[in-house]
Amino acid sequence: MDFSLTDDQRLIRDTVRQFMEAEVRPLIRQYDREEKFPAAELRRLGKLGCCGMLVPEEWGGAGVDTISYVLMLEEVARVDAATAVALSVTNSVACVPLLQHGTEAQKKKYLSPLSRGEILGAFCLTEPQAGSDAAAIQTRATRHGDCYRLNGTKSWVTNGGIAGVYLVFAKTDPEAGARGVTTLLVEATFPGFRVGRYEDKMGLRTSPSAEIVFTDCEVPAENRLGEEGQGLKIALEALDGGRVGIGAQAVGIAQGAFEEAVRYAKQRRAFGKTISEFQAIQWMLADMQTEIEAARCLVYYAAWLRDQGSGRLGPYASRAKLYAGEMVNRVAYKAVQIHGSVGYSRETDVERMYRDARVISIYEGTSEIQRMIIARDLLGAGEPARAALSPEPAAEGAR
Ligand SMILES: Cc1cc2nc3c(=O)[nH]c(=O)nc-3n(C[C@H](O)[C@H](O)[C@H](O)COP(=O)(O)OP(=O)(O)OC[C@H]3O[C@@H](n4cnc5c(N)ncnc54)[C@H](O)[C@@H]3O)c2cc1C
Repeated sequence: MDFSLTDDQRLIRDTVRQFMEAEVRPLIRQYDREEKFPAAELRRLGKLGCCGMLVPEEWGGAGVDTISYVLMLEEVARVDAATAVALSVTNSVACVPLLQHGTEAQKKKYLSPLSRGEILGAFCLTEPQAGSDAAAIQTRATRHGDCYRLNGTKSWVTNGGIAGVYLVFAKTDPEAGARGVTTLLVEATFPGFRVGRYEDKMGLRTSPSAEIVFTDCEVPAENRLGEEGQGLKIALEALDGGRVGIGAQAVGIAQGAFEEAVRYAKQRRAFGKTISEFQAIQWMLADMQTEIEAARCLVYYAAWLRDQGSGRLGPYASRAKLYAGEMVNRVAYKAVQIHGSVGYSRETDVERMYRDARVISIYEGTSEIQRMIIARDLLGAGEPARAALSPEPAAEGAR
């Protein structure tokens, strides 16, 4: 078992770290306060290859492995979680489904500019009445000649209002339930597309989360991604990969908060000592680092499995996302605690990280949904107690 990174992986990690430290860290506190989307910084990350990391070079991507991808997300999130989510959505749930299911024309039109960072992607599954229960979406797409007419409302769309292409999941056959969902590639310029409103969020305040309203929105039939009825399968497959990225985002935020906590603990004095000399603080730091490492292992393992083309990615991605999502909340909480009242001030990065961390156990499937996926897999697999670190697990999962 080899845990070392390749030279290429190290180069990607170090390049992104350097960029985030030099170009983003000095600005991010102010951007958060002003809710300013880091458009210029994202364009530059796009030029570094961060928008289409899993896309082959022929389509404008970096064509690297999933480990490199999670290293990139981790480094971005270590400084700014909101920039990381814009990249995660574009890479995992826009580029990857386009690569896997797109026609040549769709790839040329959308995948190449996405991969080069010229446009961002958006993923529109959630609706006001349907989040975890994705099969309950009500947005309808009806075929009229050579176009689909789209009606409905999507909510919490990351990159909403700024994306160049939206993957929209809509019912084409409501009677068919989960098998009646179809994916359409929608542009904001299509007639009948409208941004309803933006969410006023606790964290990720520089990342726009939009409500998108479709009113007789006309989508050319050639913009259907995959076949009619394949939509939910496309969405769930994309989310399996997406959860590895969100796990990496969690590890990155936690690492950033941890480093801030160590720095502060070594410098803050109380009772004639630095607070790092108190065992209570040392134990918090030790627990934080241990939990970050545990989550990192789960995330890298799921990334590695994805690179092996494993059909069993789903439950492994869920374990990584579940643990990392809960871990980052504990770590960010402790980072604020170690800072005392200063940690409650918007003058510190840990205050923002604490708010940003909260969403990780909610989006791309809540912790409860991850536990459902994991339990369904372990109870259905026939070999429930099998060790997780096995490259060739016993049976196909329930999903
Ligand atoms: C900042 C942000 C960005 C987002 N970006 C996107 C995006 O780009 N695209 C997109 O489509 N969506 C996006 N979402 C939406 C997100 O994926 C959903 O909010 C999430 O899937 C949960 O859905 P919900 O909010 O409707 O909660 P609900 O499904 O209503 O769940 C409410 C509570 O009930 C629990 N619950 C539900 N069902 C079960 C069950 N069967 N068993 C046990 N507990 C259950 C949940 O775990 C949760 O605790 C985003 C959300 C946020 C906050």
